Amino acid sequence: MKNVLIIGGGLAGCTASSAGIHCCIVEQSRDIGGKVRGYGCKSDLKCNNCGLCAVGSLWDDIRADANVRMLCSASVIDLSQADGEFDVLIQTESGKIEEHFTEIIVAAGFQDAAQAAGAGYDSSDFPRVCTGNALELLLKERSIDSLFPEQPDSIAFIMCYGSRTLKERAAYCSQVCCAYSTRAAKVMKQYYPGTEVVFFYMDLQAVNPGNYAEELAARGIRFERCRPAEISFEGNYPVVAYEDAEGKKQTRFDYLFLNTGIHPDIAGNTALADLTGLKVERSGFLGYVSEPLETGVYLAGCSRFPMGILDTIASARNTAAMLINREERDNNRENEGGRVQ
Ligand SMILES: Cc1cc2nc3c(=O)[nH]c(=O)nc-3n(C[C@H](O)[C@H](O)[C@H](O)COP(=O)(O)OP(=O)(O)OC[C@H]3O[C@@H](n4cnc5c(N)ncnc54)[C@H](O)[C@@H]3O)c2cc1C
Ligand code: SF4
Ligand code: SF4
Repeated sequence: MKNVLIIGGGLAGCTASSAGIHCCIVEQSRDIGGKVRGYGCKSDLKCNNCGLCAVGSLWDDIRADANVRMLCSASVIDLSQADGEFDVLIQTESGKIEEHFTEIIVAAGFQDAAQAAGAGYDSSDFPRVCTGNALELLLKERSIDSLFPEQPDSIAFIMCYGSRTLKERAAYCSQVCCAYSTRAAKVMKQYYPGTEVVFFYMDLQAVNPGNYAEELAARGIRFERCRPAEISFEGNYPVVAYEDAEGKKQTRFDYLFLNTGIHPDIAGNTALADLTGLKVERSGFLGYVSEPLETGVYLAGCSRFPMGILDTIASARNTAAMLINREERDNNRENEGGRVQ
């Protein structure tokens, strides 16, 4: 009987576990679900296809699945390989346990970019500045007629905040923040049609089919192509310094949203690579050294690179399918061996 260890109980780990494999999820936080548990619906007058509905009843389904065991507030502290199996030492709340597994899926996700790049703006010292996670929470907790305590006059978004910059060791595009922020801006315009909404951007990823920039402009959302030079404050109010075709400007906004993206947890990934024989890529995400079908160590979700919800689900399903194929291959080999004898 295969017994698979899944490191990380976020969307990727939970999706892989739901594929009918006998497995144990080791999740370091108190509950399964990862980042998406804190995200909100981005529909305005209609669904904006943010992907969240695709999660469906996953969390309840795997809690009810007899094939899936869960160890929350737990982490892998040692791992060795013998006779084609993995001996794994797990630290749980009630002490250390040792278990044997046939395969491993590493689904440790990404780091909350607020920690990596948000420069502490999540703190209560900056009530009018929000990182991506705070924006998601705002959407999740919105009431039917309000998002903010009072109608704002002006809102700014700074795209690529902490992404596409060598300074933050993140030269890549995080893939998801154009989509979540512009969908959120549509929601803001639905609640507050008179509010000025400005995006400071370098590039707009394809989000919807058709000319998305035109669709947003038609809703009164303005785009300024530049990377702002500085954020300062007048009391609690954020002031953005930037330069456009007319020269240098400084504008005060009621709220400022920083489009924080997907960052690798470099320390966490280095520790996981040491344990499992995976490698840390130049980007800081995890990669394969050898074929997973040979090593029995697989990756799923944002451990590999930035991706949205639908791609994370597809990645985890693909990983589970590879693992099931390996199981069938091993069974066939055993059967063939048995016939030869
Ligand atoms: C601000 C923001 C908004 C977003 N909004 C959208 C959106 O609207 N639509 C969309 O499609 N995508 C969105 N995304 C992308 C989405 O968050 C990811 O696609 C998804 O979270 C990936 O899931 P994951 O399981 O790979 O990673 P995670 O959600 O990071 O889950 C990883 C899990 O592994 C655990 N873990 C990590 N290391 C260990 C370890 N060593 N041992 C045990 N457990 C461990 C973590 O605690 C976590 O529970 C957004 C991303 C950001 C940053
Ligand atoms: S959660 Fe996302 S996919 Fe679901 S209804 Fe809302 S906008 Fe649409
Ligand atoms: S998804 Fe958009 S905001 Fe995010 S890094 Fe890429 S271009 Fe920048």
